[in-house]
Amino acid sequence: MKCRFCNKSAIIKLRAYNLKLCEEHFLSFIEKRVEKTIKKYRLFSPEDRILVGISGGKDSLNTVYILNTLGYKTEGLYIDLGIGEYSLRSKEKAVKFARQFNIPIHIYEVKKDFGVGITEISLLLRRKPCSVCGVIKRYILNKFAFENNFTVLATGHNLDDEVATLFSNVLSWQEGYLARQDILLPQKHEKLVKKVKPLALITEKESAAYAILRQIDYIREECPNAKGATSIFYKNILNQIEEKQPSTKLRFYLDFIRKGKKYFERALKEREDKLHPCKVCGYPTTREICQYCTIKNEVQKRRG
Ligand code: SF4
Ligand SMILES: [Zn+2]
Ligand SMILES: [Zn+2]
Repeated sequence: MKCRFCNKSAIIKLRAYNLKLCEEHFLSFIEKRVEKTIKKYRLFSPEDRILVGISGGKDSLNTVYILNTLGYKTEGLYIDLGIGEYSLRSKEKAVKFARQFNIPIHIYEVKKDFGVGITEISLLLRRKPCSVCGVIKRYILNKFAFENNFTVLATGHNLDDEVATLFSNVLSWQEGYLARQDILLPQKHEKLVKKVKPLALITEKESAAYAILRQIDYIREECPNAKGATSIFYKNILNQIEEKQPSTKLRFYLDFIRKGKKYFERALKEREDKLHPCKVCGYPTTREICQYCTIKNEVQKRRG
């Protein structure tokens, strides 16, 4: 099996593009594709200061690595969620990556704000860990970016993540979530930093191959709380469809952005109109007190 662009042997076959590529051409294919995504969707420019949320996994580390390679000013923020051994190991990977590639990273501990980590918070509140974790991560990333003058907040969501979310939101017609699903979420409030997903058109498999070839040592184990997650079930179903009909995932996602999303704009506008400062922290929310402050208050009460 020969590479499409040179005489070397191909190491990967990308069925969605009907391409077989050698190592060198695969790496440049991924980097060019990310660059094209940045330019086409106007995610940011070389003047921007970009903060990338780092988990220690392949996608977030690849995001920092590729943006740096492409010449964008990038720093990472690792949020220590306090999920036992998993957090210790993922933090180690993030720190090692930063040293290896000389990339500035910041570390923020959830325990600093709550006194306990995600696992304990979910037990105290009797809520699913992922539901509190999502709220807490989003809040910290945005607040850290805003307070440290970053103009863009990037996350490592890949195509498989995006398509699984889209699929789930379509199944239950979550208009509000559908309205906000995109590669770029523009800044709608001075305290809400613009959010982007530069790897949104790169599949999980492509991202893993890229990290391995670039010798990026990432955490391979899933968070223990991800066990049995619906998103994993949806990813498997979508991969089965992709197996039979290559490029379905990409088409489903891009066609939603091009053709489907506009039908949900009303839901987005309604949400934006409701934004006002949280009574406790001052960050925008659609409630009286934002979800982050509500969780914090509950944790304080229950810990006594
Ligand atoms: S799986 Fe759930 S608890 Fe674990 S990092 Fe992801 S959102 Fe947080
Ligand atoms: Zn080649
Ligand atoms: Zn608040």
